[in-house]
Amino acid sequence: MSLFANILRIKALKIGEFVILPSLRQNLEKLPLGLRTRFAPSPTGYLHLGHVASALYVWGIAQARQGHVLLRIEDHDAQRCRPEFTAALVEDLEWLQLIDATTESSIQSDHPQRYVAALASLEQKAEVYACTCSRKAIAERLTREPPRSELFYDGYCRSQRIHATTELTPGGAGLRLHLPPQTFVFDDLMQGAQEQTPSLQCGDLLLRERAGSWTYHFCVTVDDAEEEIDLIIRGTDLLDACGRQRQLAELLGRPTPPYLLHHPLIVDETGQKLSKRFGSTALRTLRASGYTPAEVLGLAAHTVGLLSAEQPIAARDLGGLF
Ligand code: GLU
Ligand code: ZN
Repeated sequence: MSLFANILRIKALKIGEFVILPSLRQNLEKLPLGLRTRFAPSPTGYLHLGHVASALYVWGIAQARQGHVLLRIEDHDAQRCRPEFTAALVEDLEWLQLIDATTESSIQSDHPQRYVAALASLEQKAEVYACTCSRKAIAERLTREPPRSELFYDGYCRSQRIHATTELTPGGAGLRLHLPPQTFVFDDLMQGAQEQTPSLQCGDLLLRERAGSWTYHFCVTVDDAEEEIDLIIRGTDLLDACGRQRQLAELLGRPTPPYLLHHPLIVDETGQKLSKRFGSTALRTLRASGYTPAEVLGLAAHTVGLLSAEQPIAARDLGGLF
């Protein structure tokens, strides 16, 4: 092939096409207009290309359905979250022009009372008990069982009935919710039909860590209900969380479950999800090396398979991807 033909080919490739799956487009068309979704990063580090890919889905689908995005800072884990990461991620999202001063936002640490009230309501309807088991102790009790993909809690402290109180005592016991056997059948807008039985996947759900922080599952379920989120968009790494969050939401009295969309993750060359090792894809690194906001969004869209070629796309045009 001549050099000229080669250049033409590269030029042709540069014009990216939107490559949304037809089945996803059909499913999105069924979603109500004006829906409410959220972007819910944890401030445990800097944003990387994987977060940007997730943000494309969140803001893109919200735009396509004339919906609304809430920015929720999930800083429930007092040990791992840092205010400087919150400030950095807000600044990065502003730089990308995904948010501005008018964007609705919430920070979990701003409303501790919300979780205390949710716990009190759960205690009326379900069995909440104190659990003093460490992860290590739980894992050791499971050594004779076939290996599972996640740590399964065997109900030890519930069956022993060793703890009389669930009063909040930081540094002492954690709190667990008994999950009676129940199977949840639901559709994910991207991953299709799902069936999950939380009592067999994870066992009784931890609501509060022994160190005193509320857990991810508890906070996210309480917040998604309180903040009236009707569409949850996040990566497939959280698909297994849906059944237990739905069971918890029902116990909390949420009348209608949210729609769910779990998108593919950006993985590195070894198949690991990016968040594990984000050095070169940190948004800060891309910004420092001269990328524009639209180039970063285009890079993420291409990497996650939403654009056939790497080509800049502005935040206000993301709805076009869907
Ligand atoms: N805060 C979670 C994370 O950063 C996302 C939670 C969710 O979208 O449900 O992985
Ligand atoms: Zn226990």
